[in-house]
Amino acid sequence: MPSLSCPLNPRPFSMPATILDGKQLAQQIRSELAEEVVEFIQNNGAVPCLAAVLVGEDPASEVYVRNKRKACEGVGIESQLHRLSVDVPADELLRLIAKLNKDNEVHGILVQLPLPKQIDASKVLLAVSPAKDVDAFHPENVGRLVQGRPRFLPCTPYGVQQLLVRNKIEIAGRHVVIVGRSDIVGRPLSIMLSQRGPGGDATVTLCHSRTRDLAAVTRQADILIAAIGQPKFITAEMIRPGAAVIDVGINRTDAGLVGDVDFEPALEVAGAITPVPGGVGPLTIAMLLRNTLAAARALET
Ligand code: NAP
Repeated sequence: MPSLSCPLNPRPFSMPATILDGKQLAQQIRSELAEEVVEFIQNNGAVPCLAAVLVGEDPASEVYVRNKRKACEGVGIESQLHRLSVDVPADELLRLIAKLNKDNEVHGILVQLPLPKQIDASKVLLAVSPAKDVDAFHPENVGRLVQGRPRFLPCTPYGVQQLLVRNKIEIAGRHVVIVGRSDIVGRPLSIMLSQRGPGGDATVTLCHSRTRDLAAVTRQADILIAAIGQPKFITAEMIRPGAAVIDVGINRTDAGLVGDVDFEPALEVAGAITPVPGGVGPLTIAMLLRNTLAAARALET
């Protein structure tokens, strides 16, 4: 892997950005995990297990859950799928979560979002035992993250951080601009990258829909992270020449899946850039597996 510790200098426009291949990196992380899972089973006589809860038949959620289960199988983690109908009463879902919380064979619980309208998602996320909350959405785990002593790191931010660290893109001291302040991506990522220590120590600016003159802010970024949910929103003019650009967006369009970054023109300006698909997405799943193994370790040892 080429060292990108200094991807920030303007360079000839004829030289396109280095592609940060998330698919390949996720494969590498999964191989590492597969070995760790074998060792865990040998040492503990228990198999790490992730229980997924899927409410309704949203096609995108079906695909996500199927991919997560396949990824589990690939590294030797057991997976369960609990399906509930779209009109399930909230109580029934909460009863299922209570049962999974008590089940000693289940180490991680994943409630696939979004949930149908009759169900208050925040109540459901609160019901998952923090020790099995491998998405790290429970307020206790969010609080621990903010205090710098996380139990689990939320999967997508964790994937972005791994992508930077393992590609040797220096984070410490750099200006990271994140566009998007959601609870699952932008906000926790801003906390992780600004924390003291390895994988952190950045100066972070968190932007959103009320940010004034967004382009003037993004152009200051050494590392620009887009988590907006708007196809091709970040144009080449918004990128500082040589910056590392991480595109978290996944947008379904008539032309297929596209990110939040206008990829082809951005390629000519950025120093390094993630593709969509094949960038952050595969890492999110790999980090879910990493969290499931971490949960199993904490519960079994
Ligand atoms: P979200 O909850 O919809 O939040 C979007 C954020 O973008 C909000 O903070 C919003 O600002 C901001 N925003 C929207 N329009 C903007 C604009 N014109 N200028 C500046 N900021 C703007 O999104 P999310 O759940 O974080 O997801 C973001 C994208 O990442 C989506 O495409 C999603 O599919 C994708 N995603 C990918 C993965 C993965 O594994 N790769 C995982 C999760 C999400 P306000 O707060 O002011 O409204």
